[in-house]
Amino acid sequence: MRVIDKFFINGEWATPNGTNTIDVINPANASVYGRIPQGTAADVNSAVAAAKAAFPSWSKTPTAERSALIRAIALKMQERIPEIAETIVAEQGSPIGFASQVQAGLPSLVMESFADYTFEMDHVEQVDHSMVVREAIGVCGLIVPWNYPLQLLVTKVAPALAAGCTIVIKPSEVTPFNAFMLAEIVHAAGLPPGVLNLVTGYGADVGEALCRHPDVDMISFTGSTAIGKRILAMGADDVKRVCVELGGKSATVVLEDADITAAMTGNVVQVMSNSGQTCFALSRVFVPASRYDDAVAAAKAVAESLVVGDPSNEATQIGPLVSLAQRERVLGYIAKGIQEGARMVTGGGDMPEELRQGFYVKPTVFADVRNDMVIAREEIFGPVICLIPYNTVDEAVAMANDSPYGLAASVWSADTDKAVAVSRRLIAGQVFINDAEFNMRAPFGGFKQSGNGRELGSEGLREYFELKAIHMPT
Ligand code: NAD
Repeated sequence: MRVIDKFFINGEWATPNGTNTIDVINPANASVYGRIPQGTAADVNSAVAAAKAAFPSWSKTPTAERSALIRAIALKMQERIPEIAETIVAEQGSPIGFASQVQAGLPSLVMESFADYTFEMDHVEQVDHSMVVREAIGVCGLIVPWNYPLQLLVTKVAPALAAGCTIVIKPSEVTPFNAFMLAEIVHAAGLPPGVLNLVTGYGADVGEALCRHPDVDMISFTGSTAIGKRILAMGADDVKRVCVELGGKSATVVLEDADITAAMTGNVVQVMSNSGQTCFALSRVFVPASRYDDAVAAAKAVAESLVVGDPSNEATQIGPLVSLAQRERVLGYIAKGIQEGARMVTGGGDMPEELRQGFYVKPTVFADVRNDMVIAREEIFGPVICLIPYNTVDEAVAMANDSPYGLAASVWSADTDKAVAVSRRLIAGQVFINDAEFNMRAPFGGFKQSGNGRELGSEGLREYFELKAIHMPT
């Protein structure tokens, strides 16, 4: 069993104040994969003190030096991709192919991109007789969920380091080992003590202690909208900057002229990958009524073609959900959909014998969904897609926008101009046309209850600095 009994604080492996531990479960077979310390407010205090002490020197370190260190970290991450991928397979259940390319592969690229963005901290804007300079915000508490654990963590760590901030990480207690590996990597790369600190534990103790700590200047949180709202409220006490990247119920609008097979293939694969545990899963699909039957048949065929199985097997495309609780939650939504009158054309939780010990759910397609059904309004966070017919594009756009969330959307059409025009009408932080390909240099974030910040690229850096106007005598 993989056991870690230390935190990473002030450049050293530090003994926790308490003795409680948390078991990490392998979702493929429900066995105990590892054990980590359950942190307390006292551990958070030590980590924040280290980050505070390191801030003056790190924030004044020349950008070229910070950039070189970030590049060195990215290189070390690349060297360890296979090991990171195996870890994420075991703690999170992502299939090995997806884990290698996306879960473990992308973070090193994100880290590397911020080696370049670091230099934007030197930017000085002249406004009449004033100069506007950028200064690192200070100590940042970074709290992440379990679905893309390292990718979401690095999306915060990289810009924080680039800006000159110091960091206390609280990873998800469900998938903590990749964060320990990141701590090992930054240590080996020579990041100065105290710049990055790591404490594990539950949200209610470690998370809240971090959010309420008076020496923490900023919280960046990715997770559920419910917890995001609590964190915004906690940050209000001392007017911390609080960036929240939250849930979604993203929509696809398939236009009349689209290639239905391509649209359904692209969309079903996007939703089902990572077992539907993707914040921008395009889980509501609006299809012209005239082409609805073809779309349902295509979606069913694609869902049934996906290979569900052991995530450590190269051939597997869909692994288990992350936990028993998550499986039960998803099955609850599937039952609710059936009860509401939606038609399950394929899927459900009835698994073959060899997969019954793990937390599996089959790729599930619902037809005849109405946008006011619970399965179309709430984030299921599982391999479930809802197909909703429409008669006019205005109606499709109105239904797509009728959601408390606004994270992502997609439009499928043979005519790019038409697709762009519809994209402009959709209330979402990012819109994909005829695809769901991610651009790591474009800002990522949500409208409405999907969040308030932007990550990645220059906009991602912007969250981690303050602007100071220095007014010169005229
Ligand atoms: P969660 O909100 O339950 O937990 C996220 C993190 O917050 C965990 O580390 C958890 O320990 C911590 N936490 C829990 N309670 C806390 C508290 N009271 N104070 C401080 N920290 C606390 O989310 P989850 O179930 O781990 O992840 C799934 C959610 O994340 C989904 O809603 C998904 O849409 C969202 N998500 C959003 C994005 C995005 O970029 N918008 C990306 C990935 C996931």
